[in-house]
Amino acid sequence: MFKKQTNFNHRTNNHQPVEVNIGDRFPLTIKRLGINGEGIGYYKRKICFVPHALPDEVVVVEVTETNTHFLRGKIHSIRQASEYRIEPRDSYANEVGGFELEHLEYSQQLKFKRDLIQQSLEKFQPRGFKHYEIKPTIGMENPFEYRNKAQFQVRMVADHVAAGLFKTGSHDLVDLPTCAVQIPITMKVMRQVVKIIESLAIPIYNEEQHSGIIKTLVVRVAQGTDEVQLTFITNSPKLPHKRELLDQIRTQLPEVTSIMQNINKGESPLVWGEQTVHLAGKEAITETIGPLKFRLSARAFLQLNPTQTKILYSETAKALDLAPTDNLVDAYAGIGTIGLTLAHQVAQVRGMEVIQEAVDDANFNAQQNNINNASYEVGTAEELLPKWLDDGFFIDALVVDPPRAGLDQQLIESILSARPEKFVYVSCNPSTLARDLVSLTNDYKVAYMQPVDMMPQTPKCEVVVKLIRL
Ligand code: SAH
Repeated sequence: MFKKQTNFNHRTNNHQPVEVNIGDRFPLTIKRLGINGEGIGYYKRKICFVPHALPDEVVVVEVTETNTHFLRGKIHSIRQASEYRIEPRDSYANEVGGFELEHLEYSQQLKFKRDLIQQSLEKFQPRGFKHYEIKPTIGMENPFEYRNKAQFQVRMVADHVAAGLFKTGSHDLVDLPTCAVQIPITMKVMRQVVKIIESLAIPIYNEEQHSGIIKTLVVRVAQGTDEVQLTFITNSPKLPHKRELLDQIRTQLPEVTSIMQNINKGESPLVWGEQTVHLAGKEAITETIGPLKFRLSARAFLQLNPTQTKILYSETAKALDLAPTDNLVDAYAGIGTIGLTLAHQVAQVRGMEVIQEAVDDANFNAQQNNINNASYEVGTAEELLPKWLDDGFFIDALVVDPPRAGLDQQLIESILSARPEKFVYVSCNPSTLARDLVSLTNDYKVAYMQPVDMMPQTPKCEVVVKLIRL
């Protein structure tokens, strides 16, 4: 059902001028889903993006944006619905980001993610792309209640404290009283804290006036230990009624084992500031993955889906196929979860990561698990890898797990000069993966790609790529 994007450039570059105005309506047949999970159709050969429309549907579109290259519209009505359209569990799924596919049957979401990789490869055309083996996406048995972290904005809405997400393309907050993809304890803590904040009348951040205190609430649960960390992100180091706030949390929410405050004075959309202060309980929570324990600080990254993380890491281990004499580099290491999980299979692990707290966690995690052949350093992969190579460190195996931006060109050059025999790329963005493969396939061949669904109900796609040195 998901058609390939073979002729994207041809179709958009050669379009005829189309006279379309905002508010115009026309019927449109949806051909496929785009990278953001939106439906794509062609109106007089011009590409038209329609959020929440599904392949093979005929919808009446109302135009919301016109542009020389594309049209965007919303569904006015559905003339012919997809057989895979379902009722989303969250009533606000069409309003806020993060629920783009909740109206699509799960089996089709998994097919879409595999198709997305195909589309990205066709766009960037890395060497041999037509012959890559893309395995079926490994999905979840129950693709709900999986997210270990809720990061909600807090604002006053109609005289009440609301905690939720912004409406797509705006700063209008939608309150989220329930959320089907969150692990339930994260929502229970979030909603109770909102009640406590409201009862104590703690000032809430006001964007227009850049006044008030509480901006964002972050609740993260460690599924292996049930420990919960709560972080208040605030506009100032002040936190009025702090003592009452902490007292009430202690009595009403005993599951919260760590309370932190992060100060972000900026008006920028960045959620986290540089300064994190300990308020109560422990400074961090402890997650488990297999037999290992991982300390996790508030600012450190950890995969959002603990159930699928185990699968992602076992696919990574399988693809790396390590030997006891190997030196392994764990690049973009977070709290060291990938490298430490593999340390017993190799001679040595070295990793790097830009967030200091995460690196401290990673080194602490090596120690607390009695792993003495692993160490982590603060810095970018693109700076540290060439430095280690210059110092004479020999790399047999490399795993990279970059953020959505993918690999830095300088890092790619170092990889191509070091040419580690074993190389696995864990990607959370098929576009930058396909782009990076254009250079990497000068020296490596893609053995296979294994998509793993880490974010059901969203268009986000994670894939483990096994590379073989040529
Ligand atoms: N492998 C870890 C973390 C992956 S997320 C896990 O599975 O949990 C990517 C990590 O890369 C984040 O922790 C981020 O802080 C870090 N990062 C971002 N840019 C980086 C860079 N240029 N060099 C090294 N690490 C970077």
